[in-house]
Amino acid sequence: MLVWLKQYWPVLFASVGCVFVFKNKFNAEVELFISDIKHFVTLTDTHLNVSNGHIGIFGMRGQDSTIKLLENTLYNARALNPSLSAFFYLGDSAVHSWAGDFIGGPLSDSQVLDIVDVSLSTLQKYFSPNDFEYGGIFTLFGNNDYAPDYASGKNELELLSYTDSLVNRINATNHFKTEAVVALKQLSCYEAIITPKLSAIVINTVFYSPLYSENASVTDPFGQFNCMARTLSQLKERGAKVYVVGHIPPACSSFDGNPQWHEVYISQYVRLIAEFKDIIVAQLYGHTHRNEYRITKPGDERCDDCPPMIIFGGISPIFGNNPTFSSWNVNVSSGIILGIKAFYAQLEPNLNELNWLELLETSKDFQLPQLTTPYLQELSRTMMNELELDILKQNMVSKYLKYVHSNSGISSDSLVRRWYVCSTFWVQTKQEFLDCTTKFLPNLSENILFLEKKIGPLGDHLLYGAKLTDEFLLHKH
Ligand SMILES: [Zn+2]
Ligand SMILES: [Zn+2]
Repeated sequence: MLVWLKQYWPVLFASVGCVFVFKNKFNAEVELFISDIKHFVTLTDTHLNVSNGHIGIFGMRGQDSTIKLLENTLYNARALNPSLSAFFYLGDSAVHSWAGDFIGGPLSDSQVLDIVDVSLSTLQKYFSPNDFEYGGIFTLFGNNDYAPDYASGKNELELLSYTDSLVNRINATNHFKTEAVVALKQLSCYEAIITPKLSAIVINTVFYSPLYSENASVTDPFGQFNCMARTLSQLKERGAKVYVVGHIPPACSSFDGNPQWHEVYISQYVRLIAEFKDIIVAQLYGHTHRNEYRITKPGDERCDDCPPMIIFGGISPIFGNNPTFSSWNVNVSSGIILGIKAFYAQLEPNLNELNWLELLETSKDFQLPQLTTPYLQELSRTMMNELELDILKQNMVSKYLKYVHSNSGISSDSLVRRWYVCSTFWVQTKQEFLDCTTKFLPNLSENILFLEKKIGPLGDHLLYGAKLTDEFLLHKH
């Protein structure tokens, strides 16, 4: 019982908080602790498709969000989470577009601006920062908030000029603080204060991607690492805790194993995380449309015991996933995330209604009392051990795969399952990732080929049976 209580008491307190406050009126500490537990929601990757090129009012897996799907998701995210204190929106508001995509792509700058505007205005109908105690935290610039995708081929001046119009457009309805507007327009970091002791550092990530530019020729693009170092030092002096928040995760992709930022930028970023690991509570990202996490291995000399990276699944079902969003309980005095509850709606063509259900709850399904590195390391270790067992006994692995894909197409292939478990480790090169996936197999190079054929850049979407067009398969995310 004691062990059980020790493991679940933060969750218990969170769920029966009010009762406890009254029953323990003489215990000021307990009361303080309970009033510190708040409820946040994360929404990301809306990818609004404003054309008619979709099936049914809610669309289907393999396509970006229809406006009805977006509205339905936002409505349910509010309805299922009545006691919210803040929300996070992690970017990618506009539809994917490319030549021959049947929706008039590739889009121009002004078309993307229009779609981002509609997408964010729709978001604000349900999630207006003024409605919440701590407001809303936005990472505005996903790779699809630019034309072309990843702002590929645009130089720094073109990037700044487009960003200027985007910020002006969004600020017309959002009213960011002046410092935030200046930072956003400079494509640098900004601090969003949640409480006097808890902040978010919001960073831009598009220009770190190899899909923006093949070469990482600038050491510190837009001075953002400098901005992060300066802001983190100030937060440390103030004794505040912080979330680092962005769109593209600085990690290897679970789609193809490739680093999603240039390795030199990941290294600089990791050095900052390691230097300030005592005040950074978690790193929060979107982009993959998958619910995932990354942790360093115990004793990792680059970033031992560094804070976990939590990646939130997307609303757009384009990658074969069902639409999803997450709510999370936070102790705002420490910033520690006590648990995530993810939701999803099973998307089938021609539905008239969507039924939003609980996808997974980390405290219950993974038995994690909080989302800190030691507990997540334990989960990854358990899943690695389970891979040696019969698939029916791979309890945590099965739950994790359901979580990753929002209950769509959970593979029973042992190599594919190993692939996803290996993706939970925050390694920095594709080789390190592949070393994990093929560790127990005899011939490395053959197996890499096998894996790449099976789980190539878009190969594993096919495992879900999503009906994707050839045009889409030619397009890279
Ligand atoms: Zn996206
Ligand atoms: Zn993205």
